[in-house]
Amino acid sequence: MLPVLYTEAHRQHEPGFFFVAGRFQPAQERIDRAEQLRDAAVAAGCTLASATDHGLAPVAAVHTPDYLCFLEEAHSRWSDIANAAPEVVPNVFAVPGLQHGYPQRVVGQAGYHMQDLASPIGPGTWAAARASANLAADAAHRVVQGAPAAYAICRPPGHHAYKERGGGVCYLNNAAIAAEVLRADARRVAIIDIDVHHGNGTQGIFYERSDVYFVSLHRDPLNYHPYFCGYAQERGAGAGLGYNLNLPLPADTGDDTYLLALEQACRRIRAFSPDALVISLGLDAHENDPFQGLRITTDGFGRIGRRLGQLGLPTVMVQEGGYDCTHIGANLVRFLQGFTAPRTG
Ligand SMILES: [Zn+2]
Repeated sequence: MLPVLYTEAHRQHEPGFFFVAGRFQPAQERIDRAEQLRDAAVAAGCTLASATDHGLAPVAAVHTPDYLCFLEEAHSRWSDIANAAPEVVPNVFAVPGLQHGYPQRVVGQAGYHMQDLASPIGPGTWAAARASANLAADAAHRVVQGAPAAYAICRPPGHHAYKERGGGVCYLNNAAIAAEVLRADARRVAIIDIDVHHGNGTQGIFYERSDVYFVSLHRDPLNYHPYFCGYAQERGAGAGLGYNLNLPLPADTGDDTYLLALEQACRRIRAFSPDALVISLGLDAHENDPFQGLRITTDGFGRIGRRLGQLGLPTVMVQEGGYDCTHIGANLVRFLQGFTAPRTG
């Protein structure tokens, strides 16, 4: 039986808005997403499991002390500012490569550590992000201890978060945290990111490493978030050159074209010979998702899950995006059913 890790702690993170097209819109990354995923997993026969608290060590293996300190304290420091809004939102931004100091004030630190206006930090964000990361760490520990696979319902998601920079509704990189836990026992780890958005944070964390192979299938960033990363020519750097694979896809990509790209990804993963796999399991490539990136059907998620299951690797599945609460549960169930289906080649 596939362990499904869930915690109510995510409810402490309730972003008040999502900034898009120059306007503050209602948040898409909502509490009911995780509840729909939980209910669907239970209805499909999965048993929910609670996570052991692994402390901050797995998180600190990925993120910098300055960033973790900022996330923990930002909201209470922000609340001391006269007339401050209820959530931390930057009004200046550091330009990577053109900054020459680390500011002391929380306003400056918010601009240093956050990439956008879409990821507000509320009073419960740190607790929820920490609990979300702990689910990923616990799922990885279970796989290290012999479980064939485990699935963590991580909310908030994580794949847009860098070592010291959050954004894209992500704060701590749950997939990277899971990969580092697996690395304690595995010589090589592959991460495949099937969220409709490029996993820019995960790519950035492992870009110069050859022990973690990162592959992402996503909507072409030429005209889609995150815009500045996710292009095919990004292949890694230094020791990591050749260990990063981006497969950008056009907007009209449906199941059959996607499965062809997935086949290419799976061949490259096999050639890497990993000992374990992390799946950044975004479900927002669905045809009805409000972000309208790709046109994957519910049946398509079953086929994607089946192909990834055929890799036959110890696997940690980490929830990323997916915002269509009408279909997200069915998409998850089909993916998990495909993943655990008998492996007939
Ligand atoms: Zn996404």
